[in-house]
Amino acid sequence: MMEFPKYPLTLVETKKIAETYPTPFHIYFEDGIVKNAKRLKEAFSWNSGFKEFFAVKACPNPHILSLLKKQGFGTDCSSLPELVMSERVGIKGEEIMFSSNDTPKEEFEKASELGAIINLDDISHIEFLETTLGGKMPELISFRYNPGPMRQTGEENVIGNPEDAKYGFTKEQLFEGYKMCKEKGVKRFGIHTMIVSNELTIDNLVLTAEMLFELAIEIKEKLGIELEFVNVGGGVGVAYKPDQTPVNLEELSSKIKEKYDSIIVTNKMELNLYMENGRFITGPYGFLISKVRHMKHTYKDYVGLDGSMANLMRPALYGAYHHETVIGKEELPLDHKYDVTGSLCENNDKFAVDRMLPEIVIGDYLAIHDAGAHGYAMGFNYNGKLRSSELLYTSDGTVKQIRRAENIEDYFSTLDFGTVE
Ligand SMILES: *Cc1c(COP(=O)(O)O)cnc(C)c1O
Repeated sequence: MMEFPKYPLTLVETKKIAETYPTPFHIYFEDGIVKNAKRLKEAFSWNSGFKEFFAVKACPNPHILSLLKKQGFGTDCSSLPELVMSERVGIKGEEIMFSSNDTPKEEFEKASELGAIINLDDISHIEFLETTLGGKMPELISFRYNPGPMRQTGEENVIGNPEDAKYGFTKEQLFEGYKMCKEKGVKRFGIHTMIVSNELTIDNLVLTAEMLFELAIEIKEKLGIELEFVNVGGGVGVAYKPDQTPVNLEELSSKIKEKYDSIIVTNKMELNLYMENGRFITGPYGFLISKVRHMKHTYKDYVGLDGSMANLMRPALYGAYHHETVIGKEELPLDHKYDVTGSLCENNDKFAVDRMLPEIVIGDYLAIHDAGAHGYAMGFNYNGKLRSSELLYTSDGTVKQIRRAENIEDYFSTLDFGTVE
């Protein structure tokens, strides 16, 4: 089994950073992100059109997008601000996959202006898009497919069973949709699906690719349309728990290649393989650093941090496990049981429940692992909690603030005290 990734800095280094940037803060490690990105590209280099479109929602920060852009990644966007953020980082045209649902007109307009690949979530959006764009369809269109009852997923899956998921076209609609678009003059086509999330089982990820490869053949046979790409979505999992095994990318890739060879190559076709992972790309390389403010002993022993679920919502939202390191106490026995809490007036504001940790005292620093994706991004201001800073630990060992912490005036900035009566 692989060793669980360690928090890379010492207590002295962490304290030094905290002198300039008070806790809580999110810190991302450039080296880890870049190595991981290179590994993904390398693993899928057998497919000459392979491309990863980083799901912006996982870590929406221009510095992170820029790092990934340098690795040849595009972005997967599903809102106007995500599109604009990509644009401002210089990611444009078909480097952007626009996969949204319940989409407002302005977003289709912006996506079209940028020349993004538009991935439609519903058959009714074909006409909506056409009308929005003044009667002119884009040259390239993709559809999001939902296999419904044809595909069951496990209970761990955040998205749920496809049949209950709000996303995508049914199979019938898919064929109808391609036909409609062809008649409307669309020249190039792709297909997309996103069925699983945080999936660690390679075979389940392979099934998605296989399903889309088979569909590509069926679409060619029935409609005479040769798809240009299949986008297998995101959802490659992160081993949040020490006893979980991280996804072996090379094995995943070689199993997908087997399917590609036996389905696509055998049928004399060629397809670009696209992915839009978020979690897997940045998740393990980000940590939420928070300091112990109070200790409380009642019916249980509580560690009170200066961070809260406003900085990292996943444990409260879906009972997600995030590993914790008490920085500087890595070698001590895990012989104390704690609930690690924040200060929100919500009892589920807990980073961990009944967690075995070394003995903790006020002033200790905790590193909460795997916070590099769906961490800061899910933050919110409930209870007047101000959002933290984001830091980048660069490859040359310097720390760069890539988002400052909010102050109280930021929090008030959309309010108007001037007209209060
Ligand atoms: C959330 C999302 C992703 C990224 O999911 P991860 O679990 O972070 O890999 C990709 N595509 C779509 C359409 C999504 O909604």
